[in-house]
Amino acid sequence: MPLRFYNTLSQQVEEFTPAADNTVRMYTCGPTVYDFAHIGNFRTFTFVDLLRKCLRANGFHLNHVMNITDVDDKIIRNAVAQHKSLDEYTKIYTEAFLEDCAALRLERPERLAPATEHIHDMVDAIQKLGPHTYSSDGSVYFKIASFPTYGKLSHNDFSGNLSGARVDVDEYEKADARDFALWKTPKEGEIFWDTEIGPGRPGWHIECSVMAIKYLGDTLDIHAGGIDLVFPHHENEIAQSECLTGKPFARFWLHAEFLMVEGQKMSKSLGNYYTLRDLVGKGHAPEAIRYLLASVPYRKSLNFTIDGLKSAAIAIERLRNFKLRLETDRYADGVNQQLAERTALASAAFTAGINDDLNTAEALAAVFEFVRDANSAMDSGEFRAGNTPDALQFLNLFDSIFDVLKATAKAGELGDGEIDARIEARTAAKRARDFKLADQIRDELLAQGIILEDTKNGVRWKRK
Ligand code: AMP
Ligand code: ZN
Repeated sequence: MPLRFYNTLSQQVEEFTPAADNTVRMYTCGPTVYDFAHIGNFRTFTFVDLLRKCLRANGFHLNHVMNITDVDDKIIRNAVAQHKSLDEYTKIYTEAFLEDCAALRLERPERLAPATEHIHDMVDAIQKLGPHTYSSDGSVYFKIASFPTYGKLSHNDFSGNLSGARVDVDEYEKADARDFALWKTPKEGEIFWDTEIGPGRPGWHIECSVMAIKYLGDTLDIHAGGIDLVFPHHENEIAQSECLTGKPFARFWLHAEFLMVEGQKMSKSLGNYYTLRDLVGKGHAPEAIRYLLASVPYRKSLNFTIDGLKSAAIAIERLRNFKLRLETDRYADGVNQQLAERTALASAAFTAGINDDLNTAEALAAVFEFVRDANSAMDSGEFRAGNTPDALQFLNLFDSIFDVLKATAKAGELGDGEIDARIEARTAAKRARDFKLADQIRDELLAQGIILEDTKNGVRWKRK
């Protein structure tokens, strides 16, 4: 099954391969580090992580850049109000973002690019854009009228009279309501950079164009982000980049739909949001949050509920129990051929689902139908020892994308590896007939919420 993605630019599902040398050059829009990210933001970042894992599963190498927006109006306002430098202020939220990403098992892109480390590249680009720009009161604007295909990504027709329509949220003087700021002159007391184009700070859109081209070249294979970025952010990125290079900016544009709460987008401004920290603090496992965010295909909006999160935790538990059963139960020798074929089909259906524009729902259905059938074969004594390796391999394939089978230790809890080491020590103590030590290890584990169960096939453990 070839890998296919829905391309916002062409409005079609298209077969994907990188343009050159098996490496995917990918740029995704990162966080604005003015506060903790909410799990709506993390729906988009989880989608990007699934995309990375899917591309790798298809044999491609990755060269992925993500920006960190560490300068914007809100950041400047908050930093000034708290008497902090920009760095001091944004460091807190950048670190928090990276910690949250690690908790959700989101892989680091090959490069994280903070905007403030690229101010001079942006100034150069603004100078190069020359005839496509104009200045007004010390700020520099991009002249939309100089880019005739403006609107090709969002499929908006800008040929009519749009006077009065605002496409950018800034309070500066511009010739046409659609024009957007490349460079903003500082207001009284604001933080700014002194540069060849005057004092000021870059606009958000130029940041992404400049860093994407700098690290990935004129034409990206994939550019991705949340659906709210299609317009105006990505439309503006295209206008700037294509005026700079004369080449198409990105071949594929992928956009994730929103995480919703009771029919509305989860957002800071509506106040209907949870951060990862809120949910983990209430006892929800990060992998359950990851599973929930990943379980609905990215082009469908996903309604967040605590019940949905609990169901995600139950689904993971089911898979973990199945894995444990595969690893510890003993089965009669031989291979159940029918089940072997069933495993191969399930595995192919899983890959077909993932390759079909990351249809995670289809991929999960293949996993759970298989688990149901394999569990009943185990119950009825039809499962054979020779079916175990393929079944485990299928679970590994699932986990190479979903990454939820390993349990996250809660604060102060033992990690899986530490528990396994203690169990081994207990087994060794028993073998040496040191039952006092063996019991002591079991009791210590119990005190930490780990219950051991001795079965004829070895030791199983569970968290209380
Ligand atoms: P920001 O930190 O505001 O720049 O947003 C970071 C990313 O989160 C962007 O790609 C947004 O499109 C995305 N985003 C914001 N809200 C949501 C939401 N409710 N659901 C999914 N993605 C979102
Ligand atoms: Zn961007």
